[in-house]
Amino acid sequence: MTDLGILAFGLGAIPVVAILLYNIDRFVLRHREATWGFLCGVIGFLGLSHAMSLVLFNHSRFGDAAIATALSFVGLVVGASVAWFIFEGPFVQTEPNRIVWAAVAFIGLHSVGDGLVLGGGFISVLPLLPIDAVTVAATVVHRFLEGCVIIVPAIWASWKPRSALVLLFASLTAIPATFLPGLIYGAYGPSSLGATLQLAIPTMLAAMEATLGLLSLGLLLFVRGFLPIASADRGSRWPAWLAIGFIAIGLVHFLVE
Ligand SMILES: [Zn+2]
Repeated sequence: MTDLGILAFGLGAIPVVAILLYNIDRFVLRHREATWGFLCGVIGFLGLSHAMSLVLFNHSRFGDAAIATALSFVGLVVGASVAWFIFEGPFVQTEPNRIVWAAVAFIGLHSVGDGLVLGGGFISVLPLLPIDAVTVAATVVHRFLEGCVIIVPAIWASWKPRSALVLLFASLTAIPATFLPGLIYGAYGPSSLGATLQLAIPTMLAAMEATLGLLSLGLLLFVRGFLPIASADRGSRWPAWLAIGFIAIGLVHFLVE
């Protein structure tokens, strides 16, 4: 269990390292096509491709198709609602801050999913995750990039480094999440209820992440946040950076999951 604790802490804390981007904040602001284009690719992969493919994959693994559909549907609606509240609700006033908070919500939610994957590898009903140099390096890169998803909009919205550091703590949701599969297994074992919970929780979260990613961070961030900023210079390099971001985060996922 100690091993899992160390891994959980590492997984939760790595994105916080993205605070170092404040050392090159002028570079980040100057190269907006590259930084925002790259982030669009990362969000596009995590929210649209990764989360939604997990929902579809898990949907087919449920014994009961009606429950699977209901859970996925509720998750999708909740994710879209959260996105709508951040972008259209009265809570966050200015546009750059809406992007920052949407990024925080997205990475907070995504980190829970990352924690569940790690924790799931430590119980016998799910396949064990290999822990080797490649996995560790890929995890560090993957989680660091997720921290950048919060930090780049924070630099853009002129957040002070200390406040931005607090935002990064959203990634710490991975730590309790890592222990959840073990707790559920401890309580329900390999019973059908236990197995259903192990499947239902990540499915629901991934569905929320998919619409939070698509509708808000995808649709709204793409349309109102990232892409207008990335393409503001009317340059032609941001689509290339979009593709690079998408492929880069995809590549590290091939190595860890
Ligand atoms: Zn992740």
